[in-house]
Amino acid sequence: MIAGVLKEKTGEQRVSLVPEVVKQLSQQSVTVWVEPNAGALAFYPDDAYTQAGAIIKPAAEIVQEADIILSIQLPEPAIWENLQPGKILAGVYQPLYNSRQMQQAADRQLTLFSLDNIPRTTRAQSMDVLSSQANIAGYKAVLLAAYTYSRYFPMFMTAAGSIAPAKVLILGAGVAGLQAIATARRLGAVVEVFDTRPAVKEEVMSLGARFIEVEGAADASAAGGYAVEQTEAYKRKQEEKIAASIAKADIVITTAQIPGKTAPQLISQEMLNTMRPGAVIVDLAAATGGNTALTKNDSTILHNGVTIIGNSNLAAAMPADASKLYARNLFNFLQLIIRNGQAVPDFEDDIVQGACITHNGAITNERVKALCG
Ligand code: NAD
Repeated sequence: MIAGVLKEKTGEQRVSLVPEVVKQLSQQSVTVWVEPNAGALAFYPDDAYTQAGAIIKPAAEIVQEADIILSIQLPEPAIWENLQPGKILAGVYQPLYNSRQMQQAADRQLTLFSLDNIPRTTRAQSMDVLSSQANIAGYKAVLLAAYTYSRYFPMFMTAAGSIAPAKVLILGAGVAGLQAIATARRLGAVVEVFDTRPAVKEEVMSLGARFIEVEGAADASAAGGYAVEQTEAYKRKQEEKIAASIAKADIVITTAQIPGKTAPQLISQEMLNTMRPGAVIVDLAAATGGNTALTKNDSTILHNGVTIIGNSNLAAAMPADASKLYARNLFNFLQLIIRNGQAVPDFEDDIVQGACITHNGAITNERVKALCG
């Protein structure tokens, strides 16, 4: 069988397969075709792919001939519209936010696997693209904030006087948030953290940060570890606590998301007005609406001296390692759908089932099906 690697859309620097993984697939009798310059922006040149056993082919040929097409984001419209029935696609397609394309994929008889939909179980950890990429985003968010901030992160006692450590507030202690805490702590900041899931308190404390407690969170135990929407009474209490921390914060990293929904707005304009000039906010939830009232996706704005950076794709800002980890996640997933060099997905497997969004002309994922009516 042929696996085809597409160059990502403009603005995306990562690539879905790196040469070391091409080699591993070739050893499993999979022929890998790679679009010219697919890995160039992640510093994986075409030569490295050919040395690993891949063949460089134009996108049009990949779309026609490959059995399975690999990418990160949804392919460019020109490619998407030319995909022939029976093709298998694997990537991170955010099906709950792209239901129209999912319906098109079903109508065109594509078998589409979206790796952001695999269950968050121990067995699936090696394929968990959300985790590998969120980890990078959390790390980069703090570095970006530190770079933008006009003061030091660590405390310093110098002959010229003392510098107080930066106060960092992190909203949402999932994978990105936890890495942001660790990175900010390594840089010497004092860190406070808030999350609606009380279960993360111990992890937060073990990283040396303070956990802001709000009583009465909605029970999220049936949501597979994800957050759920909260009651109005809880939101009010949460707002008061966050407002008190915001007014003192130098840096705020926001990561709060609810799968399939608009991100919760945790920082109102009034709260932003209380912030110190020079403070920096990095909002990782920008693509789904943002956690602040003024976040603009893929933009940086200045409000009363407060810089608000809206970026939900910070993993792409570290494209070499992001691609390497993504490619390994993808390779591990492909082990569940490739046998003896042929694509034979095991639809009984809970990970394959979770990732599968369309198959045999139908939407197989219940939540996406409900969105498509
Ligand atoms: P995410 O990106 O969906 O959300 C980020 C964080 O924001 C979460 O911790 C969430 O609780 C929090 N949040 C949501 N609404 C909020 C609000 N109103 N106020 C404050 N915080 C809010 O999360 P994620 O990083 O993808 O992780 C989701 C879950 O999956 C976590 O429980 C994580 O531990 C779990 N997980 C499990 C595995 C595994 O076992 N294989 C792997 C990765 C993640």
